Amino acid sequence: MLDLEFIRQQKVGVRHLADGVAVPAPSEEALRVKRFLMLGGCQELVYPFWRDRTDGETGEIKRRSEFRVSICMRQPVSADGVQVWRNGDRVGLSGLMRCGSAWGCPVCCAKVMSVRQKQIGALFRGVLGEGGKAAMVTLTCGHERGDSLFELLSKFKTAHQALIRHRAFKQLVRDRAGAVVATEIMWGAEHGWHPHQHQAWFWLAGPGYSWDDLADQLYFLWEKVAGSLGLRTIREWRGKRIGVDVRAAWDASEYLAKFDREREWSLDAELTAGRIKTSSKGSLTPWALLEEGICRGNDSAPAGLFVEYLRATRGKAVISLKGAKALCERYGVDTNVDDFADANKSGESEVFATLSAKAYDTIVRNGGVGQFLEAARKLGQVGAAAAAELIGRGEVFHFTEGGCHGAS
Ligand SMILES: [Zn+2]
Repeated sequence: MLDLEFIRQQKVGVRHLADGVAVPAPSEEALRVKRFLMLGGCQELVYPFWRDRTDGETGEIKRRSEFRVSICMRQPVSADGVQVWRNGDRVGLSGLMRCGSAWGCPVCCAKVMSVRQKQIGALFRGVLGEGGKAAMVTLTCGHERGDSLFELLSKFKTAHQALIRHRAFKQLVRDRAGAVVATEIMWGAEHGWHPHQHQAWFWLAGPGYSWDDLADQLYFLWEKVAGSLGLRTIREWRGKRIGVDVRAAWDASEYLAKFDREREWSLDAELTAGRIKTSSKGSLTPWALLEEGICRGNDSAPAGLFVEYLRATRGKAVISLKGAKALCERYGVDTNVDDFADANKSGESEVFATLSAKAYDTIVRNGGVGQFLEAARKLGQVGAAAAAELIGRGEVFHFTEGGCHGAS
């Protein structure tokens, strides 16, 4: 794993948190490279899971991986090899199969979320620019350690559907111009899986009530629909609203800041890695579970939990813009939300280097895709060529004053 060596050689800063707590803060380069390291680790973790599929026409039985993430960024789709592109300050690879799994693929998640961030940002700018209002609504319900994530997620979804069909709810949101729904999942040693939703609600005029009133009325309904499915809700805990929380949101970043999945997961991992080993009260993001799973091996509890998470989230939307269709049309936001398509888009970009299928395969096998991209980002075509050669020889790529050099 050359990328791991690469990250170890990066300078590490220190981030200060409140109460005098300082945590290591890896560089942006390290964070980007880490996604590829996590992808490789995730692929090893899901490698043992295969499914047989019978071809409808030939009757031939084909084995394929149960999880799409297993094929992501591993092979070129054509004989033309792999292209390295630049689009503004972004650099990426095209001509590769991508999985488009925003739940389970660290690389596709980053890509898909950056697209969603722009779409949601456009809605916030549009609504607030017209003098409208936006709120962040969080819906949560109770759970027990040992509950299956699959079941919890389906109950949560059913409860949410019952909520939005409820007559009193329709009355409550009659002036609302639209809503974006993001589903998130955390895991805690004490209570197990914890699915919840962060929703952005928009009004062009109104609403005629305070956020506290909205939270109270919404909680009353949420408790009812969730309760009928056997889900527990807690109104408040230590003065904090739990079951339903509503707060004003001034821009998309406040909304997106709540997204645990695209927070710098290394920070989470660093804050939680010590705790998971002792008795933990904190919650872990799926990325922290993945990282623990990679470090502790396929037979470890976190690895098993991550596989359960991959299975339970399959086919489900991470972010839904369905409830904001009219607003999307108003502000020219594409309503076709397709994680797979967005993960495979490179946009208007300029291709500045290409790799043969064989050269790329060697880079993948040596675990150096992340640092290859960093070299291409910083030094362009020259960097790409030098990195391909060094990584191909099994050496780590280094940035130096004069350019680059390798070291085994
Ligand atoms: Zn992927």
